This record gives sequence, C-alpha cells and structure tokens, in this order.
Amino acid sequence: MIKAQETVLEIDLNALKHNFKYLKTRLQPSTKFLAVVKAFAYGNDASKIAEYLQHLNVDYFAVAYINEGIALRDAGITKPILVLHPQTVNFKLLVKYKLEPSLYNFKILKEFISIASAEKQKEYPIHIKFNTGLNRLGFSENDIIAIIEKIKRAQAVKVKSIFSHLAASEDMAEKPFTLNQIKSFKIISETFTKHLGYKPMLHLCNTSGVLNYPEAHFDMVRCGIGLYGFGNSEKENQNLKPIAALKTVISQIHTIEKGNSVGYNRAYKSNKTIKTATLPIGHADGINRQYGNGRGFVTINSKKAPIIGNVCMDMIMVNITNIDCNEGDEVIIFNKNYTAEALSSSINTISYEIITAISNRVKRIFVR
Ligand SMILES: *Cc1c(COP(=O)(O)O)cnc(C)c1O
Repeated sequence: MIKAQETVLEIDLNALKHNFKYLKTRLQPSTKFLAVVKAFAYGNDASKIAEYLQHLNVDYFAVAYINEGIALRDAGITKPILVLHPQTVNFKLLVKYKLEPSLYNFKILKEFISIASAEKQKEYPIHIKFNTGLNRLGFSENDIIAIIEKIKRAQAVKVKSIFSHLAASEDMAEKPFTLNQIKSFKIISETFTKHLGYKPMLHLCNTSGVLNYPEAHFDMVRCGIGLYGFGNSEKENQNLKPIAALKTVISQIHTIEKGNSVGYNRAYKSNKTIKTATLPIGHADGINRQYGNGRGFVTINSKKAPIIGNVCMDMIMVNITNIDCNEGDEVIIFNKNYTAEALSSSINTISYEIITAISNRVKRIFVR
C-alpha cells in the first residue's frame, strides 16, 4: 500500500482476480462469464479493468451505451461486447466497432435491421431482451411470434442470445417473485427457440442472481458488483474483496472555539472547543452533500472522523477532536476494511452509488 499524498482511488487488480475466480467457483465450468464494465467499470476505469479481465480470459463484456463500447475497442478489447441500452442515433458506429446491441422493442429492432442491412451485414449478432418483471426494458412474451417473423425475414442479423434481468435477486424476501421471473424466462426462451429454429445463448443472472439462484445460471451470467468486491449480503461480502480504496490527506487542521462555525452556511456551530481537519475531496469528486452534517465519516489513524458541516465542491471538514493526527496524514474514505458499503449505508444508499460517483478528477492508481 502506498501512502496517499493527494486524493487517489487505488485499485487492486489482485482483488479483482480474486473476485473473478471466486464468482467462477459458483458456476458450472461450462457457464460463460460476462463482465459488466458499464459506467467506467463501476467507477474504476473500464479500459484497465477490461484489459485485465480479458487477460484472465473472461468470455464477454457488457456496457450500457455505445460510446462506452467504443472506448473499450480503442483500448484493445477484442472480446464480444454487449451494449445493454444502445441509442439508435449511434447504430452505424455500433456496427463499425463490432458492438452487439440489446434490442428490447419493435422500434429499435426495426431500426437496427434496417441499418445492418444498409451496411451489408450478414448474421450480425443481436441480443433480444425480455421483460419478466423489472418493467424497465424488454419485449413481452406476447411479442415472440412477431419478433421472429421480423428476424427470419432479415438476412442481416442473427440472434446470439435471449436474456432478461432480475428485479430483486439480492432480496430473499422477494424469492417467490424471483422464482416467477425465472419461470417466465424459461417459458419465453423455450417458445422463442422453438420458433427461431436455432439455439441462442440464454442469460438472466446478475451478481446476486449468481450467488442466490444457482439453478438459473443458464448459458452465461452477467456480473458487475461482485467483480468490484460487493456481494449484497454480509455472508457474500466475506468471500469478496473490495478492489478500490479511496484515500486522501489532511490539508489543514483548525481549532474551533466554542460559538464558532465551520463551512458554508455556517451549518456546523460549535458548543465547545473542537479540532477539525480539512480534506481535498468534495461533492465534485463524488462525495454527495447528503454525507455532510455528521452522517458520513472518514477514517484517520484507524479512528472514525465524522464529516461536519456542509460538503463543499472541493473539500470536506471532519471532526478530529479525539484523533491524534497531523497535517499531511493519510485519510481513508473507504477501503477493504472501512467499506464503501458501510459509508453508503450512512445515507441509506448502496455501494453501487458511491463507487460509480467517484469523478474523473480523482486519480486512479493500479496496484498488483
Ligand atoms: C448492471 C447490470 C448487470 C450487473 O449487475 P450487478 O448487480 O452489478 O452484478 C447485469 N445485467 C444488466 C442488464 C445490468 O444492467
């Protein structure tokens, strides 16, 4: 571990490897592994993460948008890349960069077939998304016959996979709902495959689906958060290692006398003498203003220091009255021990949100 001298996000590729290998132990050997690297690989740096996973021989990648897929191709990623939520305006680029679209309604299916035909494509790989209860994106079961008619008429495309997405795979209280989604997906994929006349890959599970529903892995699984070290349960968190540590340093220490205030809007007012440390990280770096006023905290020399007053754009102030520390000392926002999950739960949100929010301004450092 390097001691931080500025705000840095330190990313541990050994931990990434550990998580990948662990998740694979939960699969049948023949089940393919798709790594979800959307949103800069959940804030980590999609190119570097994808390069390393490609080196570990992952089967597939997924991103949300076409520009994210182009960035991966530019970084030398040659494995197939599924684009989960492509926008039709960029379809020509999608084809140029050999990205594979998820098609989820008739409008986008029609537009893609027409572009693929105009670009003289043959059997271009497409993925058909079905809605089984999330009610976000996807065709419905009733659309199957009409989809197949359109696809069979077009030489330009070939269905590489059929997939759906679980709404509550991490929540065992919703198990009956999830089992119902699995059942619908089975019915849909059987009907679809029968009419199509060839066998596309089937996939349904995200990380929590992998961990909680081994019977629903089908041909491939799509893992995001698990790769980055979070299992959405205390038990699974034990098996995974958070790959990112967000660290900073103490810029200045102040003594605040009774009756004085700290920060914008004088949001903190002191009723006794306290000590504060000012840190070079703020809401522009991804520390949401909700963490202010005593809710969020950082760790200095193994002690918890709550954020006091309002979060500024470039700085936060923390209470260090009971902590022995100096200007220049390292500060942990989150790491393997003081997790992003614990910090995010202080404002009732989830690890996904804080890790994807760390902005571009924060330097990424990779360690092995
Ligand atoms: C983001 C996403 C995933 C990954 O989910 P995790 O919970 O991070 O594993 C999988 N599938 C789809 C469709 C997604 O949008």
